[in-house]
Amino acid sequence: MRQPLVAGNWKMNGSVEEIKALLDGILAGMGDVKRAEVAVCPPAIYIPQVQSILQGGAVAWGGQDLSTHESGAYTGEIAGPMLKEFGCAYAIIGHSERRSYHAESDETVADKFEAALKYGLKPIFCIGETLEERESGVTEQVVARQIDAVINKLGVDALAKGVIAYEPVWAIGTGKTASPEQAQEVHAFIRGRIAKQSGDVAQKVRILYGGSMKPGNAAELLAKEDIDGGLIGGAALKAEDFLGICRAAN
Ligand code: PEP
Repeated sequence: MRQPLVAGNWKMNGSVEEIKALLDGILAGMGDVKRAEVAVCPPAIYIPQVQSILQGGAVAWGGQDLSTHESGAYTGEIAGPMLKEFGCAYAIIGHSERRSYHAESDETVADKFEAALKYGLKPIFCIGETLEERESGVTEQVVARQIDAVINKLGVDALAKGVIAYEPVWAIGTGKTASPEQAQEVHAFIRGRIAKQSGDVAQKVRILYGGSMKPGNAAELLAKEDIDGGLIGGAALKAEDFLGICRAAN
């Protein structure tokens, strides 16, 4: 049985004061979260603050990205060992905003997957098609290509050491959620593709859904057999909404 994971991607939002209030709110409601593992991914500069509030509790934290390098002349980058030093358990990699605004290729994302594992972080590996790709009927080819980049570089077993997040780009931050059936179809395709190489990894790996998930649609999505949690953007910025999604995984 895969334990659901609900992870908040705060993107470039928050301030010291807002983060304190958000985390206080989340912690106050965690008693009702029975089943899901919960994590938050703040902007990197706030990770020490998040660590000081969450240390020793039930909510984990992670970075929103990491460098493929360990250290050196890479201005603006954050390395895996730095995230690890501040207690991160996870690192989001390959988010569609990184792929599109920072031109991250499938190969770069595979390098980031490798870097995360090397430094003891679990990658939350984002994949998903654009609206144009969905409308052209190539969703499966796109997600297969994105997954294969990691399998070809690291082998299928590596996937079980991370988490996959299927995030249709057209559903991110748009208020348009994939229907539970649409999401389940792609999740089943992803699991099936992995199963062709390893039934064991396919059974173990958690596949999260991301894209305008909110308390009102979470239960239906999370009830689908291949949806093992959510990667949450907008709704992760309000404690009640985020907790509502966490509780929906009960
Ligand atoms: C995301 O960016 O990972 C995401 C799922 O955003 P939202 O929930 O706002 O669509």
